[in-house]
Amino acid sequence: MDRFTTAREAALAMRPDVPVYCFRPAVLKEDARAFMSAFPGKTAYAVKTNGEPMVLRSLAEVGITAFDVASPAEFRAVREVSPDAELLYMHPVKAQSDIRLALETYAIRVMALDHEDEIAKILRIVRALDLDPADITLYVRLQTKGLAAYELSKKFGAAPAHAVELLQRLDRIGFRTGLCFHVGSQIEDPDVYERALASADWVRARAGVALAGLDVGGGFPASYGHDPKRAKPKMPSIDALMARLRSDLAEWGFSDLPLIAEPGRVIVARAFSVLVRVLLKKGKRLYINDGIWASLSDSWTGKITLPARFIPDPARKRRSGNPDGLVPFKVCGATCDSVDILSRPFWLPETVDTGDWIEIGHIGAYSLALRTHFNGFYPDTFVEVTTPFHEGDGAEGFAAIETMAD
Ligand SMILES: *Cc1c(COP(=O)(O)O)cnc(C)c1O
Repeated sequence: MDRFTTAREAALAMRPDVPVYCFRPAVLKEDARAFMSAFPGKTAYAVKTNGEPMVLRSLAEVGITAFDVASPAEFRAVREVSPDAELLYMHPVKAQSDIRLALETYAIRVMALDHEDEIAKILRIVRALDLDPADITLYVRLQTKGLAAYELSKKFGAAPAHAVELLQRLDRIGFRTGLCFHVGSQIEDPDVYERALASADWVRARAGVALAGLDVGGGFPASYGHDPKRAKPKMPSIDALMARLRSDLAEWGFSDLPLIAEPGRVIVARAFSVLVRVLLKKGKRLYINDGIWASLSDSWTGKITLPARFIPDPARKRRSGNPDGLVPFKVCGATCDSVDILSRPFWLPETVDTGDWIEIGHIGAYSLALRTHFNGFYPDTFVEVTTPFHEGDGAEGFAAIETMAD
């Protein structure tokens, strides 16, 4: 991988016409270490957030030994970079063939579920392989309610009374049991963890079975840009959030249990930026070489304002407009699809023009992981960049790439 000090240097040296992902391994390692030292338990990186081999390898190098995986491709990706890593198969609804692969080929011994029929599926394979249930820990996924930028609790999780039954059933069969939850992504209110812990405590007390662990999932917020025209979001700092979580864990009597967290976004968001090019400027519209079907997918980045840096092409000698102060541009994506228009603007200097580059920061989470081959465009060029996005010349603009109607 080519290496540059900054994305600006990469832009000027490569003059790329395709989006270029700028990977910052030092930032990734710093954010991973920060999480590991603040969380009082095992850190299991959520692979779906960004499963690139360079990410998994860096995390293994920094001492992450456990990974939250959901599919055979994720099992393989982790094992390829870290043969000894522990795989936690935390998807509550699994294909029978994937359960077999997990137990038989990958020797996975930790799984999650939220329904008795999933227990039956797992038990069938355990019996067929003649495994001892006592060697397997099954986490019952608890339903949570809360406030996160991305609410995921509607899809998975057993209601508390149902979770009690599931724990007791697992215990009768002879499995080791645990409780897990996942409060959503980019949480906005630290109370969601406390509410989930209160519910976990209720379930533990009613079930009366010995728990082998508590898994608090992911959801920890990453720091992003913020739109200067709007009120600054009241996002808890990760330190404040962790201090609160540690005290909630103690208060609800969980500090004696082995703890697991499954962070994704908070570890990997800052580790990548994407360098895009303006293919055409048409009045107040910019056509760029990326879009909602590639790195700027609406479903995950929808409520987030990303920092952006303007990188003018020095080959353009004449420019019009005021170079100071930001103006909003409507941004059209690379595909021919008419929905591929970002309905929130990018704010950039008025002088931006055809051929210029824009570096969009903090896109490491749920952005390159969600890119598609739609219309034949698939960004897949990577460089390494040594300077963190926010150092050096600051980000002049910001990209609010929300696609919901404003
Ligand atoms: C997606 C996911 C995570 C990671 O969530 P982040 O908000 O990125 O930290 C963790 N656990 C589970 C079960 C998930 O589905």
